[in-house]
Amino acid sequence: MSEALLLPWVFPAIALFLGLCLGSFYNVCVHRYLTGQSIVWPGSHCPACGHVLSWWENIPVFSYIILKARCRSCQGVIHWRYPAVELLSGLLALLLALKFGPSLAWVAYMVFAGIFLVASFIDLDSFILPDMLTYPAAILAWATPFCLPVSWFETLWGSIAGAGAFLLLQQGYLRLRGLEALGTGDIKLMLSLGALVGLSKLPIMVLLSAVSGLLVALAYLRRPDGEGLRTAIPFGPFLCLGAVLTLLWGEELQGWLLYLGG
Ligand SMILES: [Zn+2]
Repeated sequence: MSEALLLPWVFPAIALFLGLCLGSFYNVCVHRYLTGQSIVWPGSHCPACGHVLSWWENIPVFSYIILKARCRSCQGVIHWRYPAVELLSGLLALLLALKFGPSLAWVAYMVFAGIFLVASFIDLDSFILPDMLTYPAAILAWATPFCLPVSWFETLWGSIAGAGAFLLLQQGYLRLRGLEALGTGDIKLMLSLGALVGLSKLPIMVLLSAVSGLLVALAYLRRPDGEGLRTAIPFGPFLCLGAVLTLLWGEELQGWLLYLGG
């Protein structure tokens, strides 16, 4: 292959590899938040039997396949979350690399991708979006106009309108129906997501989040065992998904919708 053909793929390939490795670290963060353990100690081990993982049992995605989803020592099932987080992290790093190239923007969005990935998987498991993730994410997102080519107006108003609309919705529902349709964690999450997508793309972000959440909810409802009706689904991961889709393809999607709307 000629050098010119290879060159555009060097950075995305490095990004994919880095994303997969970071995914392993995000898994540790999620697991240790859920179990209340320290992030730095002890080393990677099987959560069931404490078996310390050797290097080849700790390779992103690959080890999960080789070990056939079971711990080598106790045969305990390895949670599907591990390869899922690693794959998603790798995929996100790759897509962001293709969109932004080797730039400060790529580094910045990688940081947000990490925070939102960890927050989403904690939310999926515990219905909690930790303040220690949503607040720092908001502060970092408000600071993006300092170093990225985004406008202050879009950033700050996106944050205020996003979190504000969700707060109104939550309070309105609480008054009218007496139930909490939206968690306070979702509102705090919107502080950063709204800032990142910006005011003008906020509607499309919320639309994408709602549609993806609805599709998953419908899939659950169709489960034959009737478990679906009793299964609550956290909204945080879908908000993050909507924001990622908007950041990656918001312009194209917006153009499409306007075209469809005549
Ligand atoms: Zn084990």
